[in-house]
Amino acid sequence: MAIDPHFEANRDVAEKHEGHRVWGPVDEPEQQGIHGTHVAVDFDICMADGACLEDCPVDVFEWTDTPGHPESDIKADPINETQCIDCMLCVDVCPVDAIDVDPGRAGRL
Ligand code: SF4
Repeated sequence: MAIDPHFEANRDVAEKHEGHRVWGPVDEPEQQGIHGTHVAVDFDICMADGACLEDCPVDVFEWTDTPGHPESDIKADPINETQCIDCMLCVDVCPVDAIDVDPGRAGRL
């Protein structure tokens, strides 16, 4: 299952994390929601492959701990989503289609 590109319409903002929105539902540790808006990572799909951290030319992502999540204990968090230059490398390299990038969506809070 890939990230829902229409999450803004289909989900509500549950909380804030590191200056970005988290789109619910969130029920930690098993359910983490989607982090970010311009650069959105579905934490419930992310399995911590790390290709996005390696390939992003402007270091949008950092690891964050999610102990107890069934897919992985760390996630690629888009903490610098305002730096994104929309190259789409992260979208292309993610092996589980956990990332969606859309400059038309609102960015940080
Ligand atoms: S689209 Fe490019 S610049 Fe933006 S987060 Fe992904 S890899 Fe980084």
